[in-house]
Amino acid sequence: MKVRFWGVRGSIPSPGAETIRYGGDTTCIELRVGNEIIVFDAGSGIRPLGLKLMGEAQGAPIKVHLFITHTHWDHIQGFPFFVPAFIPNNHIIVYGADHETMPLSELFSGQMEREYFPIPIVAMGAKVEFTSISEETLKIGDIEISSMFVNHPSMAFAYRIDYNGHSVVFGGDHEPYNNMLSYSKLAYQVNGKQLDIEVNGQEEFSQLLDKKLALFCQDADLLIFDTAYTLDLYPQREGWGHSYPEYAVHIANMAGVKRLALTHHDPTDTDEKVDAKVKHTRQFIKSSKLSIECFAAQFGLELDIE
Ligand SMILES: [Zn+2]
Ligand SMILES: [Zn+2]
Repeated sequence: MKVRFWGVRGSIPSPGAETIRYGGDTTCIELRVGNEIIVFDAGSGIRPLGLKLMGEAQGAPIKVHLFITHTHWDHIQGFPFFVPAFIPNNHIIVYGADHETMPLSELFSGQMEREYFPIPIVAMGAKVEFTSISEETLKIGDIEISSMFVNHPSMAFAYRIDYNGHSVVFGGDHEPYNNMLSYSKLAYQVNGKQLDIEVNGQEEFSQLLDKKLALFCQDADLLIFDTAYTLDLYPQREGWGHSYPEYAVHIANMAGVKRLALTHHDPTDTDEKVDAKVKHTRQFIKSSKLSIECFAAQFGLELDIE
């Protein structure tokens, strides 16, 4: 498996001299798994990815499996600029959650209505298919792709890819569970079994959900995690749906993950601030006596998962 980062920014593209090293485009991650092209999210980073795919294909048909964590703008705004979707004979399969009020296909076509964009989605010449998913595991050949809802003000997924004994997890946009409303009962499925658990208060509730998330990430070769904020900044941004490095390390440690990529850099995160966040996280890992490799997701960074 090869992972390549095309967009690592959260909220809004943030180009400029101060973000040139880590990149200013919003979320898009490419995975090459065997012969398949799998993409996580269609932030503005999907535009340069599309151009690269066109160059590679040299006119041959392109098939892309595009998994959307959620439909906030920073995760879909690049789709109208994804050139392969305009070319006949290409095939783009978009996976994501329906909302209660709107199916996935309308969530996508809505941003291309004339109030927002000059070209409607029906002008896309490729076969563009929408597949609504929930928490499940689907197969593309020998590749397994699992989805799990995470804590964000939207229907938002984390995704896990398993192939040939290796795995990558992209946690999507996620906030620590202790900011969720209290529940007294928790129900979820693990390995096909339905679990109903009585919960005593908020703390136990968030601990249980952390365990569920850690189980989802278990032994992944790479965990890509939302660390938009720092621990200091987080109290001012509670409820906005994002995490900070100490929490990412907590989940990585629970899951036995050895490689952690920090992503969804905040628009105010200059290259220097991202460097400082990585340095701080490495120190935190060291002082916690853990051995987890930590780095920041960066435009153009390519990783071999083998
Ligand atoms: Zn986001
Ligand atoms: Zn979001």
